[in-house]
Amino acid sequence: MADLISVCEVFYSIQGEGMTMGRPSVFLRLAGCNLLCGGPGTQHDGALHNGATWRCDTIELWMKGLAMDCREVFTSEQLAFLRKGAHLVITGGEPLLQQNQIQNVINFLASQDIRPYIEVETNGTIASELDLDQYNISPKLRNSGVKRADRYKPEILLGLSENHCQFKFVISSETDWQEIEKDFAFIPPNQIWLMPAGESQTQLAATRPVVVELAKAHGVNYSERLQIVVWDRKTGV
Ligand code: SF4
Repeated sequence: MADLISVCEVFYSIQGEGMTMGRPSVFLRLAGCNLLCGGPGTQHDGALHNGATWRCDTIELWMKGLAMDCREVFTSEQLAFLRKGAHLVITGGEPLLQQNQIQNVINFLASQDIRPYIEVETNGTIASELDLDQYNISPKLRNSGVKRADRYKPEILLGLSENHCQFKFVISSETDWQEIEKDFAFIPPNQIWLMPAGESQTQLAATRPVVVELAKAHGVNYSERLQIVVWDRKTGV
């Protein structure tokens, strides 16, 4: 039923990545994803499979959701931040699995005269019917351990690219860049953001110089990952 939305967490922070990095934002993390980065079975054993070099850092969150009334997702404090101009960042999991529910949340906010700038984070495998301000698209590469047929949907990416959007890639090496150049040549360089791989400040410090040089060499954007730089965490901040 579209009035109930499956939610993992809602929190207020700043956008940590990409073209709106630094913007105060209310994050709405939705449950469920159609991919499994880390490879088949990683949800059970926490290990890397099928050639994956990294594992989804939100699996433990998005596999559990709380069904909430679309009108009761936000606290009064979060509504006040949205009213003051905070962005609403809808993330997951894969939020485009719950498009009707997202629309109901937007309708509820409009009924309260709150019309925030809305960003959605997506893996780029599901077409969107939503009229949002910004699509943050993070297509998955071979290093995710997900089968190519499941993670690579050029026709969907082209459809999403007609919106105001950015394509974000977390990479660590020249090899990752070569895959982007080969499979995503249709994306204009000014729509691409490269971010360094790493789960801690120490790991980011090691990959950052490589990724900065790749961004410079290929004329694409570089982005920090402030949630790790500032808090040394990837979720809930
Ligand atoms: S697409 Fe995103 S949320 Fe889904 S498994 Fe991969 S990293 Fe996690």
